[in-house]
Amino acid sequence: MHPKRGADKPHVVVLGAGFAGLTFCKRLTSGLARVTLLDRQNHHLFQPLLYQVATAGLAAPDIAQPVRSILRDRRDVTVLMSDVTGVDLARREVSHTGGVLGYDYLVIALGGRTSYFGHEEWARHAPGLKSIDDALAIRRRVLSAFEDAEVEDDEARRGKLMTIVVVGGGPTGVEMAGALAELSRTVLRRDFRRIDPAKARVILVEGGPRVLGAFPANLSAKAERQLRRLGVEVRTGVAVREIHEDGLELASGERLAAANVIWGAGVSAVPLAGTLGVPTDRAGRLRVEPDLSLPGWPSVFAAGDIVSLTDPSGRVVPGVSPAAMQMGRYIARTIAGELGTVTPPRRKPFCYFDKGTMATIGRSAAVAKIGWAEFCGWPAWAAWLVVHILFLIGFRNRISVLLQWTYSYFTYRRGARLITGLDPEREAQGAAPAAGPENRMT
Ligand SMILES: Cc1cc2nc3c(=O)[nH]c(=O)nc-3n(C[C@H](O)[C@H](O)[C@H](O)COP(=O)(O)OP(=O)(O)OC[C@H]3O[C@@H](n4cnc5c(N)ncnc54)[C@H](O)[C@@H]3O)c2cc1C
Repeated sequence: MHPKRGADKPHVVVLGAGFAGLTFCKRLTSGLARVTLLDRQNHHLFQPLLYQVATAGLAAPDIAQPVRSILRDRRDVTVLMSDVTGVDLARREVSHTGGVLGYDYLVIALGGRTSYFGHEEWARHAPGLKSIDDALAIRRRVLSAFEDAEVEDDEARRGKLMTIVVVGGGPTGVEMAGALAELSRTVLRRDFRRIDPAKARVILVEGGPRVLGAFPANLSAKAERQLRRLGVEVRTGVAVREIHEDGLELASGERLAAANVIWGAGVSAVPLAGTLGVPTDRAGRLRVEPDLSLPGWPSVFAAGDIVSLTDPSGRVVPGVSPAAMQMGRYIARTIAGELGTVTPPRRKPFCYFDKGTMATIGRSAAVAKIGWAEFCGWPAWAAWLVVHILFLIGFRNRISVLLQWTYSYFTYRRGARLITGLDPEREAQGAAPAAGPENRMT
């Protein structure tokens, strides 16, 4: 069942160094196999805090860590920074930009990507939040819009520059809208002379009947109240009809002129999932067996956001980091149990353990459901802080984030407010290119 490929130990190839792939590499018993981990990025990214980079609360290096440095003590793991381009299940081969790799076991953990539900043309005007580049681009656009508003004399154009629409009322949209409202109402409030940033409009649009639809209804209602208290305009039960360079149109016919539209509404699997010839769901995610293997391919596993699975207790496994980590751990145990055994043990089904769910809305404002306990406000916010600090990878990151949050809490300031890099949209519209940090600091 496990042919050796010219080396003494079986070769395990892992695609993706996100929560699932990285957990797998850390948890597979050392020395059992040769492991090759491929990722197109050189860093592992803590996506739950990406919105803080997008809203100038944290700097990019605070929430990312080089994969090589995380696995430096695992001599049996080789890290390759390369783009995976295909998998040939019959030949047991992975193609990537650097060549082809044979495998005995394969773990596919390539995650998901922003989905525009068939409206890919919206991506240009409404960036999603999935990578550090996305977060930095959003930060640049939002901060630049305030700068442009300070220069603008025309009232209507200034209004548009000071309007931000966030599409999607899930945790990402809610966190983003809350952080943007705080940015304009507290952080930037005293820094401008011609405009009043506190008058900026932050509008959250959700197609479903309530924000945080996966939470209990009372927590959704509390989250909405906390958002409104921060000054966010919440529109629920209304879909987006069109997004263009002037803003967006809602299905209700309402037009919102906005310089910034941020997309937090949909996620689908990476396109590679659809090329494997195995069943997928509507979001393109792989329908796996109860042991997380691909149907008909027992030595190929999938884990994390790329997976569509209902576990034996009937629970749909959600696309969250604890689920991805639990899957990575489960596959590591399964493979370790089979390697070196003549008769591999029967595989038990994967069961998801729900540790709870939480979303932060702003300073001292959050909602959380842990087991049967539901809480909101300061206690939920404190729980959110502790969990996020604990799960951040790297001692330096934990200390740095803790210091920055403490600083922001007491001073109402945010440190990561540089506008850097070129913005293709602004260039195309003839605006001066955003300058480097040395001469353009807010
Ligand atoms: C903005 C945002 C906020 C979130 N907030 C939360 C939260 O608060 N709590 C929570 O639990 N979860 C949250 N999530 C979800 C959580 O981040 C995911 O469930 C988790 O990252 C899934 O892990 P994964 O390993 O499946 O995929 P990922 O972590 O996405 O990792 C996939 C890896 O594959 C690599 N990759 C992809 N394609 C290729 C390719 N072709 N070649 C090479 N490498 C490739 C990527 O670079 C990436 O490193 C959030 C997600 C986002 C985007």
